[in-house]
Amino acid sequence: MGARRFILLGPPGAGKGTQSALLVESLSIPQVSTGDLLRAARKAGTDLGRKAQLFMDQGHLVPDDLVLSLVEERLSRDDAKGGYILDGFPRNLAQADALDSRGIVVECVVNVDVPFEILVGRIAGRRVCQGCGATYHATNSPPRTEGVCDACSGSVGQRKDDDAAVVESRLKVYASETAPLIDFYKKRGILRDVNGLGSTESVYQAVLAALGS
Ligand code: ADP
Ligand code: ADP
Ligand code: ZN
Repeated sequence: MGARRFILLGPPGAGKGTQSALLVESLSIPQVSTGDLLRAARKAGTDLGRKAQLFMDQGHLVPDDLVLSLVEERLSRDDAKGGYILDGFPRNLAQADALDSRGIVVECVVNVDVPFEILVGRIAGRRVCQGCGATYHATNSPPRTEGVCDACSGSVGQRKDDDAAVVESRLKVYASETAPLIDFYKKRGILRDVNGLGSTESVYQAVLAALGS
């Protein structure tokens, strides 16, 4: 089979990262999360990481040129040759155009749909491992020992930008910059809507069905 490339689209807290982690296992293609790449760049203290910092902490989009250079580098690695799942990218029309202009053809775009009022609770309860990036939820799916990652024993805590004031800005940015991509890909005939409510497993089954896997 040829390379399989997918986009997971959806607002912050929709469950894109959670679903990507499951898809990585079953499809054997990597997850490419621009949020993860940006956080790694910050942690490593690179120039790009430092430039991205303020935008992320205020809940704004990081400028396209910075994000595109990270994506370009990531997609050029060997493990991306068989395809990948784009999580959190593209985030605006300019980024979608950049994919097109590089000749990257995606098979389909899964739009994970979750009502705004539910997103706020998911984001407030989100807990993330600083070591391996595993995602938990304080009440829905906590680690076995509070604050300790099941997978790597790393420290599990809250993301700085999951703070209520920043979340409000991120949800606004989603509505104005990212949501227009729904129509963009619908017109192209590759958008598949998935209901993001329900258990992680039931959403996963719906995502697999949408991917035709
Ligand atoms: P979430 O899925 O909760 O929105 P992400 O980890 O995808 O969180 O993104 C965290 C932050 O990283 C965003 O608020 C934004 O500042 C930045 N970011 C991530 N991906 C992009 C992107 N494709 N373009 C611009 N900024 C991005
Ligand atoms: P995104 O990557 O879209 O921002 P995440 O995958 O990080 O979203 O999920 C946000 C939060 O919601 C996390 O705490 C995660 O554990 C939780 N979550 C994910 N999927 C579900 C679900 N189907 N039901 C309840 N909570 C979920
Ligand atoms: Zn971990």
